[in-house]
Amino acid sequence: MAERYHDGAAGGAAAHGLQYPGAVVSNAELAEALFQLAESHPAGERRLAFLRAAYAVFDHPRELAPARRWPEAVPLELLPTLAMLRACRTRDALAAATERFAGPRRHGAAAREGFLSAAEVARVIASPAAPSPARLRGAVHWHTRASDGAATLEAMARACQRRGASWAVVADHTRGLECVNGLDGEGIELQRLAVAAWNRRRGEELWLVQGLEAEILDDGRLDLPRAAREGVLVLAAVHTGLRDRRDQTARLVRAVEEPGVWALAHPQGRLFERRPGIRANWEVVFAAAAAAGVLLEINGFPRRQDLDPTLAGLAAAAGARFVLASDAHHPHHLAFDATAAALAARAGVGEGAIVNFETLDHLAAGRPDLALP
Ligand SMILES: [Zn+2]
Ligand SMILES: [Zn+2]
Repeated sequence: MAERYHDGAAGGAAAHGLQYPGAVVSNAELAEALFQLAESHPAGERRLAFLRAAYAVFDHPRELAPARRWPEAVPLELLPTLAMLRACRTRDALAAATERFAGPRRHGAAAREGFLSAAEVARVIASPAAPSPARLRGAVHWHTRASDGAATLEAMARACQRRGASWAVVADHTRGLECVNGLDGEGIELQRLAVAAWNRRRGEELWLVQGLEAEILDDGRLDLPRAAREGVLVLAAVHTGLRDRRDQTARLVRAVEEPGVWALAHPQGRLFERRPGIRANWEVVFAAAAAAGVLLEINGFPRRQDLDPTLAGLAAAAGARFVLASDAHHPHHLAFDATAAALAARAGVGEGAIVNFETLDHLAAGRPDLALP
């Protein structure tokens, strides 16, 4: 009996002679139902099975409705339930079915709101109006083994080049409270030499710029002395107090006004399914960033998606400019700049407001301290 459910379409409406008109329920909606089902179970195997299925659906690159097969990671014992959910032809029907299995909707969805499924990302960036990952010139915010990345500077740079970038900004962590693996003064200097060595040999193909992902301290200052900000692009990021419910406007405003800050990285500090991010008066933060000429990052790491589209739209209205980031910790992660492009598209932010689409000499404006060709 379970066998027929391997074939989702046959087990669902199609078996009754109904035709799918394209998308029935989206992966995002189906995954949300599965997360709610997981939450309706106490900690244990059944709950884990639903979570695995939810993530597998959320991360699947194509909409599953017309597909014949479920992703490999979906546990077999859930296939009958999934087939029933997928057979729902409307959102209301899906909500009713979910409630039948999971009971009334609970809290906890706040940490999933505003996140795009992998299939949504693919659909959004396929639109000719969306910022195109294929036209990105600059690959920004990725890590190497010098902090918590999996690959060397060279391997990451080569991967950026293979993706078609003509310039790239490495952004390893500084050694702050939260990152014992970060770069100290000597590490920063060694990386500066490695970046210069790459540029001497291969700068014509891909020009590397040293960035640093610096910690925003509790009071909004950075963990990086001013002298160390010379010649690097500083991406200031909050990694502490992320579950703190107090208002953090003053902390972020102070950070964007710190000398030498280039961008505010993953401004919300949210994580999918884990935490909704910090509280702030975002209009005030975005206006301060725009006034200081500090870029707002749209971080495309799928579990971050930070800024979310609503806030990115607010930032655009405040006159801010943007940088798209993959936050890659592995060469394969560089493709996450597509998620950032999709978030920008959802926010109505075009290529003209995004620094990654510009040529290298735009980076040089106002930054005579940067080593550029
Ligand atoms: Zn970070
Ligand atoms: Zn990072």
